[in-house]
Order: sequence, then structure tokens, then C-alpha cells
Amino acid sequence: MNDTKTSEGNKSNGEPAEQFLTEVNRVPLWDPEYDDVLVCRQVRQETHDVKTFVFSAREPRAFRFYPGQFMTFELPVEGMVTRSYTISASAARPYRIEITVKRVPGGPGSNWLHDYMVPGKEVNVTGPAGDFTTDATSEDKLLFISAGSGITPMMSMTRTASDLSEPTDLHFVHAARTPSDLIFRDELALLTAQNPGLKVSLTCDSSSASHKWAGYTGRLNLPMLSLMTPDFKDRKVFCCGPGRFMEGVRNMLEEAGFDMEKYYEESFDFGAETAGTLEEHGSVAPEISDQKFRVNFVKSGHVVECNPGMTILSAAKEAGLLPMSSCQRGICGTCKSKLNSGEVDMQHGGGIRQREVDQGKILICCSTPLSDVEVDL
Ligand SMILES: Cc1cc2nc3c(=O)[nH]c(=O)nc-3n(C[C@H](O)[C@H](O)[C@H](O)COP(=O)(O)OP(=O)(O)OC[C@H]3O[C@@H](n4cnc5c(N)ncnc54)[C@H](O)[C@@H]3O)c2cc1C
Repeated sequence: MNDTKTSEGNKSNGEPAEQFLTEVNRVPLWDPEYDDVLVCRQVRQETHDVKTFVFSAREPRAFRFYPGQFMTFELPVEGMVTRSYTISASAARPYRIEITVKRVPGGPGSNWLHDYMVPGKEVNVTGPAGDFTTDATSEDKLLFISAGSGITPMMSMTRTASDLSEPTDLHFVHAARTPSDLIFRDELALLTAQNPGLKVSLTCDSSSASHKWAGYTGRLNLPMLSLMTPDFKDRKVFCCGPGRFMEGVRNMLEEAGFDMEKYYEESFDFGAETAGTLEEHGSVAPEISDQKFRVNFVKSGHVVECNPGMTILSAAKEAGLLPMSSCQRGICGTCKSKLNSGEVDMQHGGGIRQREVDQGKILICCSTPLSDVEVDL
């Protein structure tokens, strides 16, 4: 019996698996330039105050993103607030977007999501955007350090590396207040069992009434880190968590003589930054003269002389205006305004679409004048 199949013979038209693959391969990519609506498909309670929201596009779309990137959501609360959330899902599963959100007491955005985002509900988004990512195929030894909801970018990177079955040498250190606050605890155990190169170490500030804790206890410190990852100095470190946590990690590593060139972090806290020059925000402005330009805020009738490198948002504040703004780094899109005339240098981080730029819109938080300008504010 000859059971050799020719390539032609393998094209078994009509088989369900092949039909599926044909359909999947036809799914268009999500285009951040034009696609802007996600539909909630599922909500999962992760811990007492953390939920994961699963979304897909209205029409079938494949999302292309790097693990660690985020999307920015327009939430209909207090008029409208924009909030960014890291995609916690694997970048190797392109048909869904998952975000994992901690409820912040008194915070409008996170509470609205927890209370009102249910399957079937639609939400406007921009992105994916952001540059906090590691190459999942990297041969570097990695150390992830996260606390609280700062686990989300690390989780996406870990899930992606696991899905791609890449040989990784990854140590994942996560800190929580109590064992009941540990997000993804069971999945991390599963991923560890499935990936020989992955080691997870958890630490809790204290036990909780409902969960006994026999693991590392207390704030992450150098002796603890040295026990968890004796070779931490040989690793690339990715860190995400509350501002004070990351400051503590930075200080700890610097004290230990760690090469900070190999340290990367993501802040969830826009408030920690203030409006100012782009250089203060770490952006590199092009080589321009030290010429001052006039910013004419047309609607309010204010004119401000803008110092070199000063953002239009800062100029507006100097004029006593209070334009809506949030992230101060060209990510969230809150400060989008119309540029009536003149030229600006805009160093944005994904918070504006090209078609909006073509319509003369700018994000004033990350735009510096290159000539006298008129802004519709
Ligand atoms: C790139 C990025 C990725 C992120 N990823 C995640 C993620 O994966 N998961 C996650 O849970 N979060 C993430 N965040 C944080 C998220 O965007 C929100 O900041 C968070 O959900 C809180 O939003 P909120 O509207 O509930 O509260 P906020 O409005 O941020 O308020 C937080 C607290 O500050 C108080 N507050 C707010 N504004 C003022 C003010 N003007 N004066 C005084 N107090 C004020 C509020 O009352 C509240 O107590 C990310 C942030 C960024 C920038």
C-alpha cells in the first residue's frame, strides 16, 4: 500500500482544521490608525480587587503587539477619562487583548471598569503602544521584578516566552502585600512546571487571615534578592510597580553595584511626572536654535513666549490655562488640540493617529514650537 502523500494530496480541501486555518489566516490585522473599538468578551476575578478583562475587536482582527505594551482606554466616567493598561495576555495569541486591572480606592477609571465593564460592552481605545518590552527570543539572562499590578507587563512577557517555547533563563520575582493579593499565582506555578528555564519567587509583606504564607516574608531587600537570585548581577532587570517600590529596587541594585545600563522600568504613575521641557522627560528634542517662539492661544486670547524646548502644555499653564492633560508623555491623548498655524516638533508615544496629525491635531504635552504657532485653546 502506498500511503505517501504528495503536497497536492495534503491540500485536503474541506477538512475542518484546514478551514479553520484558512479563515484565521484571512483575519485582517488590527490597524491602530483606523481600528479603535474593543468589545468585552469575558471578565475574570483574579483576586479580591483585581479583574482581568478580555476583549476582541468588533470584527475579527489580529492584534500585533510586543509583550509589555499597553493600550489606552476612553472610559465614560466624570465626562471622560483616559487610562492606559498594559496588555497582560501573550503576544503570541493575537486574537484577544487582555488587561488586568487593580481597583484603586477612589479612582474613577479602575472602579468604572470593575463596576461596569461586562461582556458585550464596547470601549474606545488607542494603541498598542509603549517601549517597555524584552525580546522573548533573547539569550540574555533575565530578572523580572514586580509588585502589585506591576506584574502585568512581566506576565505578558512570560506568557509570550512560554507560548513561543523559547529557551529562556528567566527569574521572576514578585512582591505583594499579602498572599490574597498575589495575582496569577496558580498560573505562575503552572508556567514554572512547564518551562525549565523559569523560576518564580514570591514575597508577601505579611500573611492574611484567609491564606497562610510560608514563603519569603517582608519587603524585598538585598539579602532576600541574593537568596532568590544569587546571580542577579549577571541579568537584565525589568521592573514595574508602584513608584516607591521601583525607587527601592533602583537604590538596592545601585548599592549592590549592579550595572544600571541593564536596568529597565515602567511607571504606571503619570502623576509622578510634571509638565516641563521634553529633556526633563527623557525625550530627545532635535537640535534647534535657542530661539523663543510665540504661542498664541486663539480661543482664550493669551499669547506666551515659549522658551526653547518648552512644551505647549507648559506654555498654556504659564498663561493660566488649564487644558485637559494626563500622561505628559504623548501617550494618553487627553491633551489633543488643533494647531491652527505654525510648526511643532511632536515626540509622542502613540497617543495620536497619523490621520489626526494630517488633520492638524497635536498633543500639546509633547510638542515644542519650531515657529510661532496658533493653537485652538
Ligand atoms: C503605561 C501604563 C500602564 C498601566 N498598566 C496598568 C495595568 O496593567 N493594571 C493596572 O491596574 N493599572 C495600570 N496602569 C494604571 C492605570 O492607568 C490607572 O492609573 C489606574 O487604574 C488608576 O486609575 P483610576 O482612574 O482608578 O485612579 P486615578 O485617577 O489614577 O487615581 C488614583 C488615586 O489618585 C487619586 N487622584 C486622582 N487624581 C487626583 C488629583 N488630581 N488629586 C488628588 N487625588 C487624585 C484618586 O482619588 C485615587 O485615589 C497603567 C498606567 C500606565 C501609565
